[in-house]
Amino acid sequence: MPDHPPPPKMPRVDGVRCQACRKCVARQVCRTKAIVAIDPGEPPFIDPNLCYGCLVCMVACPYQAIVG
Ligand code: SF4
Ligand code: SF4
Repeated sequence: MPDHPPPPKMPRVDGVRCQACRKCVARQVCRTKAIVAIDPGEPPFIDPNLCYGCLVCMVACPYQAIVG
């Protein structure tokens, strides 16, 4: 069970646009580290339990891979 419902503006990672960067800039700017990479060669995903919908990551990703 999630601790709280996902925020209405929670974005997602577009797996086609995402370049699976070695250092995900979007993760670096996320204050709650809600962007999680399991496999370095695969796009990260956004943990709905940590994301609070600030959308800073959308602006930060150089490939526009985070979409609303
Ligand atoms: S979300 Fe953006 S910054 Fe992060 S790995 Fe994908 S393309 Fe790179
Ligand atoms: S919307 Fe904000 S809290 Fe959610 S993943 Fe992006 S930067 Fe992190």
